[in-house]
Amino acid sequence: MTTPRDPVADLRRIAFLLERANEATYRVRAFRSAAKTLSALPAEEVAQRAAAGTLTELSGVGDVTARCVAESLAGEEPVYLRRLLATEGVDLDDAAAALRSALRGDCHTHSDWSDGGSPIEEMALAAVELGHEYVVLTDHSPSLKVARGLTADRLKKQLDYVAAVNAALPQGFRILTGIEVDILADGSLDQTDELLSRLDVVVGSVHSGLRDDSARMTRRMLRAIENPHLDVLGHCTGRMVANRPAGAEGPGDRGHRKRLRPPSDFDAAAVFAACAAHGKAVEINSRPERQDPPKRLIRQALEAGCVFTISTDAHAPGQLDWQRFGCERAALCGVSADRVVNTWKADQLVDWAAGHSA
Ligand SMILES: [Zn+2]
Ligand SMILES: [Zn+2]
Repeated sequence: MTTPRDPVADLRRIAFLLERANEATYRVRAFRSAAKTLSALPAEEVAQRAAAGTLTELSGVGDVTARCVAESLAGEEPVYLRRLLATEGVDLDDAAAALRSALRGDCHTHSDWSDGGSPIEEMALAAVELGHEYVVLTDHSPSLKVARGLTADRLKKQLDYVAAVNAALPQGFRILTGIEVDILADGSLDQTDELLSRLDVVVGSVHSGLRDDSARMTRRMLRAIENPHLDVLGHCTGRMVANRPAGAEGPGDRGHRKRLRPPSDFDAAAVFAACAAHGKAVEINSRPERQDPPKRLIRQALEAGCVFTISTDAHAPGQLDWQRFGCERAALCGVSADRVVNTWKADQLVDWAAGHSA
């Protein structure tokens, strides 16, 4: 027999930790109002309702809070609480700063070869000034025509070009080759196997069919994660939470400036389990208008055992400094530096990525 926990205390603890992590007010309110409703009832009634599944008939109690109560009464630490406890007792500003200073590079950047605004050399020099040891250049793949995605031919040219630029850059810094390859409707990757195998790091992202139903989107993402070429799952929900900051859009972005977008629907448990099983990283995308994945999914991926990248998806040199936004979000979720692959030296990162296709 396990001893029941106090469900109201657990709900309040969750609300406190959500507030501390600066979560959306509506999410916090759900836990505060459930706690308030339940604290006005006798404990036996709460237990009876939990057993009968009628907690959600009470005003202020929803599916998520009812599940927490049921777990509490069963003597288990609610999953929701467990995921938040990673940040308890941590100074979040210190944790964010520690993460930022541990980063040695950026795994998601664009140049004017696709929809970025600046030449490769300028992106690289800005990265040198930020103290990076590397950036992975991840221009788009052919099917993303609005972003001037690189055909196989142009990507080959880019590889030669990067080799030449690297030769002229300061010692101790290098551009790693890469791609942000589209995850196509069937889950295949939008570039030839031959080219994908030549790249140092492959980020795969969904850019189309974002409203696919959950089963379809999950299949699509799982197939991509299982592909040995893919190393990093880019901005996994595709959501847009805010308008782009002025000047933040690339040439191909202009028509999309004011488009907000809900996260796509997929089985996050299955997707993160696959990332963990195959050693693929989940990207924490630092762009202010993306903030992708949402914090609850970062927590879920962390608990699933995933590693992460904290990347900027920069389309201009100044945006390379946006990593601190991603670090803040990661710190709020309890992500530590040892789970972030771009805290590694370039060689270790490249070996890790190569290990996926070995
Ligand atoms: Zn993208
Ligand atoms: Zn991108």
